[in-house]
Amino acid sequence: MSKFKPFHEFQKPLVGISHEAFLDYIETVIPADHLCRLVKEVVFSLDTEAIEAKYSFNGQKTYHPKLMLSLLFYGYATGVRSSRKLEEKCISDQTYIYIMQCYNPDHRTISDFRKNNTKEIGAYFVDIIRIFNELGCSHVGKLHIDGTKLRSNASGKRSKDQKGYEKWLSEITEEIDKLIKEAEVIDSQEDENCKAAGQQEELKQQLTDRHYLKSKIENALKAMKAEDRKKTNLTDKDANLMKAGGSKDVRPSYNCQAAVTDEGIIVAAEAVTEANDRNQLKPMIEQTETNTNELVEEVAADSGYASYTNYEYLDQKGIDGYVPDDHFRQYKRGEYEKEEKRYHYSNFKYDESTDSYICPEGKPLKYWKTRKNKTKKRQWHHRVYQGRKCRECTKRSLCTKSEVRELLIDTRDPLLQKMREKLSSEEGKKKYFKRQYTIEPVFGHLKYNLGYRDFLLRGINKVTAEFKLMCIGWNIKKMLKLGIMPEMI
Ligand code: SF4
Repeated sequence: MSKFKPFHEFQKPLVGISHEAFLDYIETVIPADHLCRLVKEVVFSLDTEAIEAKYSFNGQKTYHPKLMLSLLFYGYATGVRSSRKLEEKCISDQTYIYIMQCYNPDHRTISDFRKNNTKEIGAYFVDIIRIFNELGCSHVGKLHIDGTKLRSNASGKRSKDQKGYEKWLSEITEEIDKLIKEAEVIDSQEDENCKAAGQQEELKQQLTDRHYLKSKIENALKAMKAEDRKKTNLTDKDANLMKAGGSKDVRPSYNCQAAVTDEGIIVAAEAVTEANDRNQLKPMIEQTETNTNELVEEVAADSGYASYTNYEYLDQKGIDGYVPDDHFRQYKRGEYEKEEKRYHYSNFKYDESTDSYICPEGKPLKYWKTRKNKTKKRQWHHRVYQGRKCRECTKRSLCTKSEVRELLIDTRDPLLQKMREKLSSEEGKKKYFKRQYTIEPVFGHLKYNLGYRDFLLRGINKVTAEFKLMCIGWNIKKMLKLGIMPEMI
């Protein structure tokens, strides 16, 4: 009796074994609830006609879009996204062999498929969200929004302002002139030996490279002027300089936004070029409602999304918001109650009956006028309240540098006060802190477990598609966690 399972001293050749037989064998090996089976079922339920229509009947036959999509979705779900690694996996990993049905596309085919179908990938992201709805697994009522910065596929050294590009352009022009002179010297040499011919070839190549770079810089300068941009990156013109996470490094990056339901399903996703989150609350809510055909009832987001405009938007839409303002933490810690902050505007109490504020010395500040302010990006209205007893006040030097103290209160300030009250309540705290279990794990998983800290593709459209591929990967994995089995799709 043997102690060991049977094995072969030499690998048995697979010659003669059909793909069908090999796939039959893999079918027996892969568990029924394996992620690759679910990916396949999800993709096979999608309508891929839009991609199929792009291929011609002429020429060589290619891989079916359903197989290529399965490969990308499964790869992004498991942390494999480089086209070379995907190519390698199609040969070495049973789950990929199962997904690709024994086909092995080369990396160029995989990479081109991803680049050429960015619009369709965005549509499939929505289709997959709707699968959750159809199965009754998701309810969009409560939404958690957050953003994270992912580095672009471009070097920070290539991000410059107009002056930087002009300097670079003059350096390149000088280099080109120098190379042309060198080429002329070699040309004039009577001795046309092999060495000279080799040098000439090298110079030609260098000149071609410099001319190419020069035209790229000239185009970047033109685009900057046309689009009125202060800075741009030569490799990825859409990437903006941003600080990523807690790091001090400023690199060309994209700001990736996601909205997640209570169940942890990503229902809206977008990569944007603006570093600030403030303008993303409304688009995320709107995208969620479009993607799911449901209304958002409640939203939680961090202070990066706080603005009077957003508070007003939530109020007008009747959405129960939990978005702390920038100073909420100090307010909660009682920073403004300290003696040195005695004259901070938070310590002026509003008296509704007289429409005035009462200062810490018990003196009134009466409504004076409404002042309109406008910048390129925003506009706001301030109600100005002015102290009436400041001139004779003994604490004036501690309170103001002017003759009288003025308070500039945004007309929407009551919405901020209401928000602070809500967030200070026990229920409000619970609702806000739920973000830690819903949206924050999404970025934690993508960045730290799967290593998606940067993009492989360039340009806002391709980057958005790549971010949606990451989100599709997350959502399909979520299906398994929610108990959705392949046969249910
Ligand atoms: S300066 Fe005016 S507002 Fe300030 S404490 Fe004195 S009375 Fe009050």
